[in-house]
Amino acid sequence: MRALILSDIHGNLEALTAVLNAAGQWDALWNLGDMVGYGASPNQVLQVVRPLATLTVRGNHDRVCCGLTSTRNFNPTARAAAKWTMEELSAENLEWLRALPQGPLEPEWKTPNEARVALAHGSPLNEDQYIQNMRDAWAPLRQMTTAITFVGHTHIQGGFAQKEHDWHELRPRYASRAGSEMWTLAIAPGMRCLINPGAVGQPRDFDWRAAFALYDSEANEVVYHRVPYDVARAQARIRKAKLPERLAARLREGR
Ligand code: ZN
Repeated sequence: MRALILSDIHGNLEALTAVLNAAGQWDALWNLGDMVGYGASPNQVLQVVRPLATLTVRGNHDRVCCGLTSTRNFNPTARAAAKWTMEELSAENLEWLRALPQGPLEPEWKTPNEARVALAHGSPLNEDQYIQNMRDAWAPLRQMTTAITFVGHTHIQGGFAQKEHDWHELRPRYASRAGSEMWTLAIAPGMRCLINPGAVGQPRDFDWRAAFALYDSEANEVVYHRVPYDVARAQARIRKAKLPERLAARLREGR
């Protein structure tokens, strides 16, 4: 089975559209949260992703933008965007966001001998934790109950892997920052990993292209993807909505 894994769409309809067009066929869509906040199309993104997603875990922005938690831990830019998003979201979308489960969630598989995997927004141990380096990855890799956990939150595509005494960071290697590219990671027997598909709608790994991943459970491999999208249009929407200018500028910089 093939699962499309998306994270951190952040109200960016243009990026989401490009990703869905590039993803091809898949059997399940696993959504790691932060669908809203920052971008100017929160309702449109939810209209597209809600019926497609097989499983969704909530992100911190989803939680704040529907009023479940306060904006206290947000910087002024994120806070302004959350306030705008909350006013913009339909009552029905607000209600849907409030009901989202916290990770980790375990998808049900079609056959019993397939590997168990889990989905979380930040970490399988704490939904708000950023796993940015091996030090952050150590405890979740040791304590998680599945061989693979898909996580988002950092907006950095890649992840961390451990097999016996070998620990290493996973970073896709692409030839350029243009066009569509993919990078395949074969998951070796006995390997435990945290896989971050990257951010669909606001990448922060110095590559402006929308990020996503496809997991093939039979081949036991993850294919990381980057695809160009209409970034000028996404920026124009942010400016038209009078959201902070930084939110438009950073999309082109990929940070
Ligand atoms: Zn996010």
